[in-house]
Amino acid sequence: MADKHALVTGGSRGIGRAICLRLASDGIDVAVNCVAGVDAAEKTAAACRERGVEAIVVKGDVSDAEQAKNIVADTAKTWGSIDILVNNAGIVRDDIAIRMSEEDFDAVIATNLRGSFLCMREAGRYMLRQRSGRIVNISSIVGLNGNAGQINYAASKAGVIGMTKTLALELGKRGITVNAVAPGFIKTDMTACLPEKVVTKMNSDIPLKRFGDPEDVAAAVAFLVSDDASYITGQVLSVNGGLDM
Ligand code: NDP
Repeated sequence: MADKHALVTGGSRGIGRAICLRLASDGIDVAVNCVAGVDAAEKTAAACRERGVEAIVVKGDVSDAEQAKNIVADTAKTWGSIDILVNNAGIVRDDIAIRMSEEDFDAVIATNLRGSFLCMREAGRYMLRQRSGRIVNISSIVGLNGNAGQINYAASKAGVIGMTKTLALELGKRGITVNAVAPGFIKTDMTACLPEKVVTKMNSDIPLKRFGDPEDVAAAVAFLVSDDASYITGQVLSVNGGLDM
């Protein structure tokens, strides 16, 4: 994978950080995006460089059209191409539907859905000119199955799957693949606040009897951007310990 250049949105922490490190270990240069956590993003970039690749930090809010454009342009300008986009940036604002505020609904849609669209639109323009590229969108088991208390998040992650399949249809003829990864419960800041009771129940429901590690998701992303996955597009790869069986 030498001479490949990737942009990972939300690469400062959690799953995004693990994806950055895994791509770096596979010899891919990485642009680490964050919206606020510049120090964490710099640490991720430094850890990528320790793996022998180039890495930069590109700060910006993916939900803002101008900033999304700059995030992608800065990446492409640094290396002259953008070969891989991983749309990983995401947030939650949980509540049951009848209590959820419009602000919380809109905030989650803006980052998770609109942010993924904006970055795909911008990166897609470069990839079309290059006639090559790989896009991986991080969806969720919640986008496939729904989850009480997450109507905004479920809508955003189901929407990501719809966008993945649509873009796979639009870009396939130019050799660009677009796939999604749907993680189950993964140990990150996002799940750290789950009540002990919920964690115990989930651990018992998950056939593999544990939450996933960020590296489990990163391995699926690494596969989808590798040459071994060149005939796979428009697919959703679940990484959930068997939770949805
Ligand atoms: P974390 O909360 O640990 O990290 C979120 C990342 O997204 C951070 O890097 C954060 O940057 C970045 N981010 C948030 N908003 C924006 C924005 N507007 N623009 C740019 N970057 C932003 O989340 P996880 O690692 O747990 O989740 C990563 C992805 O995986 C998300 O899309 C999530 O929905 C999905 N997922 C997670 C699961 C889990 O169990 N953890 C399960 C299924 C899917 P900063 O540091 O600057 O705040």
